[in-house]
Order: sequence, then structure tokens, then C-alpha cells
Amino acid sequence: MRVLLTGGTGYIGSHTAAALAARGHHIVLLDNFSNSERDVPARLQALTGQSFPLIEADIRDTETLTRALRDHEIDAVIHFAALKAVGESEADPLLYYEMNILGTIRLLQAMQAANVAHIVFSSSATVYGQPDSSPILEDFPTRVENIYGRTKLVMEDLIRDLARTNKLSGAANLRYFNPVGAHPSALIGETPRGVPNNLMPYLTQVATGERPHLNIFGNDYNTPDGTGVRDYIHVMDLAEAHALALEHIFANNVSITVNLGTGEGTSVLQLVRAFARATGREIKTLIAPRRPGDVASYYANPALAEKLFGWKAKLSVLDMCRDSWRWQAKRAGINDVQV
Ligand code: NAD
Ligand code: UDP
Repeated sequence: MRVLLTGGTGYIGSHTAAALAARGHHIVLLDNFSNSERDVPARLQALTGQSFPLIEADIRDTETLTRALRDHEIDAVIHFAALKAVGESEADPLLYYEMNILGTIRLLQAMQAANVAHIVFSSSATVYGQPDSSPILEDFPTRVENIYGRTKLVMEDLIRDLARTNKLSGAANLRYFNPVGAHPSALIGETPRGVPNNLMPYLTQVATGERPHLNIFGNDYNTPDGTGVRDYIHVMDLAEAHALALEHIFANNVSITVNLGTGEGTSVLQLVRAFARATGREIKTLIAPRRPGDVASYYANPALAEKLFGWKAKLSVLDMCRDSWRWQAKRAGINDVQV
């Protein structure tokens, strides 16, 4: 297949590009580099031995998008490009409506103009808000807790509507739980700008000495050890899921909404301990107040992905810690990584 990846030089997009290339697909990357590095296509080439044509463009530019879809004879799109910071979305809702919702409408218009009728979309477990219980199934109620989550839900609805009215032949809304890790080569990974919000990038920056300690946001939750529980998923497993979901919707012309998680909950303290085991690095931690808006615990029921397209996460929390560390250590210039 010839697949265009919006946001293809970002964290999850770049890993998916490598996974798709390994399965013999031809990949075109489209990105405006608002949150990624310009040498990602070159690093992908070093990793896979294949070249990755790049279009530097904004997803709101329907004309450029339409031309790119036609010129490269694209069969399907995977849509990663979005803004993704919850706090920023609450500070500037219109920016998020424009980039995420309007951007997606523009992309869908370009796809319609170029007769591209299959899309895989990066959604998020954030659409479940504060779930009543875990494991979470796809038919649990969706809830909007912040502007970022609102945009994900609206984008899912747009895509489902177009599939229902036969404007799209196949669509997959993939609800990611907590992606972490990096390619084991340490050639691609996550590059958060500024102080990381998420646990794993913060933790690895404590390990490199870039930050003095990890604040654990609350140890009085109703969880086994009092700290927040999440379903961490290795980005390599996530990348593989995109390839299988895409092949499934392309072959069967179906519209699906699917959780992507491991089905296992891991607490903050468990992750800190796993990191020490996997890397030999102890992490200094301090107990801090709860972070506003945080949920005590959530994790996926990932059975539907296995039933529909035979996908199941394979990599463990130790693998996630090891590969996150390899990547962050390399970036920090630490060369004695023996993991
Ligand atoms: P990322 O920021 O690394 O990747 C997004 C890419 O899109 C970046 O390369 C950025 O430069 C590009 N981009 C942003 N706006 C653009 C625009 N208007 N036009 C063109 N390119 C644009 O983020 P990621 O972690 O790889 O996330 C990918 C997708 O997955 C996003 O839609 C995100 O909301 C979703 N998601 C991420 C997580 C996570 O924890 N990382 C969890 C759930 C869902
Ligand atoms: N967390 C923490 N310290 C940090 C960052 C996160 O204790 O510096 C906790 C957070 O409260 C949550 C878990 O780690 O319980 C995962 O947080 P993250 O932001 O990575 O994911 P999300 O909360 O968006 O699922």
C-alpha cells in the first residue's frame, strides 16, 4: 500500500513509518515540524534502508494535501498530526479547535478530492474521561474532561460520520492508552519540548541527571500502593497495531473503534522500580500533591483489537523502561548504557 502519514515525523508516526516499511508498504511523511526534528526521515532511512519522501506542510492546507495525495498515488492515510497538551488546550481552546478539528476537516476534504477513502486515526483513552471502572471496553461511555479530549471525540465522530455515509470506505479510530518506549536502535524516540508532562520522559530525564527528582503526584489514591495506575504500551507494539489495523480496514472496508493497550495496570511506584531493574538506575522520588484532573486508575480491555485484526501487545514494562532509557541516555550523551 502507499500510505501518507500526517505527523509522520513525530513520536508515534515515526515508529509506525518504520513498522509499515518493514511490512513492505511505501510511506510518504507529511509534517510541519512544529513538534518534531528535521532529521527524522534520514534516521528512518538509516534504520530501514528505505527512503521516506517528505512533504513539509500543514494539515490545514487542503490544496497541498490534495496534490500530495494525488502525486504520490496514496491509497490510505494515517492521521497523527495534532496538538496534544491538555494544559495548553485549556489555555487556548480555539488553537486546539483549529489545529485538531479544522485540520482534520481539511485533511478529510483533501482525501475526498483525491479519492482516498481509508483512514486510521490517532485517538486516545482520554475520550473515556474518568471511567466508572477498569478494564475499559470500547462501548464504555465517552466523557469530555478537557479541550484536548473534546477535540479527539469530535475528530472520531467526524470520521465515523463519513464512514456511515459512505464517504469513507474504511476507518479505524485507535484509542491509545499510555505510549512509552522507543525503537530499540535508539535512532528514533520521543522528544518532548521543555519540561515533560508525562511520567516516562520525566523519569528518564531524572535518570540522566537533567532533573533532580521525580515528583510522584499523589500516593493516597485508591490503588494497591496509593499511586496512579496506567496502561503503558510500548510504541513498537503500538506501531505494529497501526499496520494491522490499516491492513484490516483496507481489506474489509469496515469502520472500527478500538482500544490499544496491554490490559495491564502499572502504578507510578511499580514503574519506578521496573526502571531501576531494567537499567540499574535508581530514581530519586518525592511525594507531591495530586495533579488536578488525574484519574486514580485506568487500563484497557484490549480484546477487540485481537479479535478484529489479531493484534496483542508483546513487550513488557521492563522492555519499555530499557528502550526509553537507551533513547534518553543517547540523547544526553551517556555512552556507557549496558542494557
Ligand atoms: P508528536 O507531537 O510527536 O507527533 C505529532 C506530529 O504532528 C509532530 O511531528 C508535529 O510536528 C506534527 N503536527 C502537529 N500539528 C501539525 C499540523 N497542523 N500540520 C502538520 N503537522 C503537524 O505526538 P505523538 O505523541 O506522536 O502523537 C501522535 C498522535 O497520537 C496525536 O494525534 C496525539 O494526540 C495522539 N496520542 C498521543 C498520545 C501520547 O501519549 N503520545 C496518547 C494518545 C493519543
Ligand atoms: N505522574 C507522576 N509524576 C510525573 C508525571 C506523571 O507521578 O512527573 C503520574 C500521574 O499522576 C499518573 C501517571 O504518572 O498517575 C501517568 O501520567 P502521564 O502524564 O504520563 O499520563 P496520563 O496521566 O496522561 O495518563
